[in-house]
Amino acid sequence: MKIFITRKVPETGINLLKENGYEIDVSPHDRVLSKEELVSALKQKPYDAVLCLLTDKIDAEIFEASPNAKIFANYAVGFNNIDIEEAKRRGIVVTNTPDVLTDTVAEHTFALIMAIAHRVAEADKFVRDGKYEGWAPELLLGTDIKGKTLGILGAGRIGARVAFQGKNGFGMEIAYYDIKPNEAIEKEFQATFYPSVEGLLSASDFVSIHVPLLDSTRHMINTSRLAKMRPTAYLINTSRGPVVDEKALFEALRDGIIAGAALDVFENEPKVYPGLEKLQNVILTPHIASATLETRSAMSTMAAENIIAFFEGQTPPNAV
Ligand code: NAD
Repeated sequence: MKIFITRKVPETGINLLKENGYEIDVSPHDRVLSKEELVSALKQKPYDAVLCLLTDKIDAEIFEASPNAKIFANYAVGFNNIDIEEAKRRGIVVTNTPDVLTDTVAEHTFALIMAIAHRVAEADKFVRDGKYEGWAPELLLGTDIKGKTLGILGAGRIGARVAFQGKNGFGMEIAYYDIKPNEAIEKEFQATFYPSVEGLLSASDFVSIHVPLLDSTRHMINTSRLAKMRPTAYLINTSRGPVVDEKALFEALRDGIIAGAALDVFENEPKVYPGLEKLQNVILTPHIASATLETRSAMSTMAAENIIAFFEGQTPPNAV
């Protein structure tokens, strides 16, 4: 069996595939392949499987270029980069990497919450810029996290873990909105369910987004919804960039409609909406919420296990 990996990933999964006798070709470029490059690479050999990344747009053209490939193992929990309907039509299996990254993404979410509340990035820059002239009673005042309301938008695996941390780690009140109620977090963390996005936004001091990118969630946060947030509130996004209308967010931050934001994902990655990087009340990280050695290695193993299970005639454990 021949497998194409669209970009170098941690070797755990690659080694597992090799140990199981698979022939592996990894893209020689450590960067995102253009559509033409990916098509051309897939046409080099009759690949039986593809291990792809969230930066690869997988659609009919890609499936055409690799007619033998009956499984696309995505190295991510999100799979908005893959045309699932087209895969289904062609009988191609798509898998993802859920759960193994939940704790890490939730940790990064809290790193962002703490950083924006305590103005960590701004303060670090202040010191590096040589502006620190001594302790002062009102220097870089932030805001407490304890006792504040954490609004979770999308209380699935990651959202629920963020709720756990907020409740148990920081004594926050937990509120959430989801298309389906999460009874577990209501019971365990006394989370309050809000039946509308607007209701959640107006009740929260920190709003953390954990929905997948779907047609129904694209621009879920827009100008009118930002206006529902408290002027003292913060927006944290570690889900997918297009869930937030980035222009609307820029304007809300610039005009003081909300207090601040912390973003790991952007609407047009790797571009950042012009001007956002100049604002002091925003923290920007380059889509690294799952980027720990442990988690990226576990994702690599999981993607490989999905491929192996498929070729052993089983339903891959993480077929989406
Ligand atoms: P999940 O499927 O467990 O949870 C998603 C939740 O969103 C579910 O509870 C679902 O009911 C809810 N939902 C779906 N549509 C909704 C809607 N229209 N309105 C409200 N709620 C809705 O997924 P997860 O494992 O928690 O991951 C969530 C997302 O986080 C992924 O889809 C991915 O895009 C993103 N993610 C980002 C990073 C990163 O590096 N920044 C890493 C991992 C995951």
